[in-house]
Amino acid sequence: MAREIQTVGNCPKCQVENLQCRYNQFEKDDLQIRSWEHKCAECGYRETTAFRSDDPVEEQPVDAGVCPYCGRRGNLS
Ligand SMILES: [Zn+2]
Ligand SMILES: [Zn+2]
Repeated sequence: MAREIQTVGNCPKCQVENLQCRYNQFEKDDLQIRSWEHKCAECGYRETTAFRSDDPVEEQPVDAGVCPYCGRRGNLS
């Protein structure tokens, strides 16, 4: 599994500038899972979304490599 974490700004809950955006990429055979997590180290605020390549076409995101919360592009090498 590959992962990348960046600090992206202020927490919407406690306003402390310690909100982390985490991007995970997981592949197994034909299945690809990309998950995004925003998490605050101060107050525990957390939200996550996961995109799976075997989800129905209607549920596929425009681009799973872009964070649905902050809009940044994942940067896995
Ligand atoms: Zn917070
Ligand atoms: Zn983000």
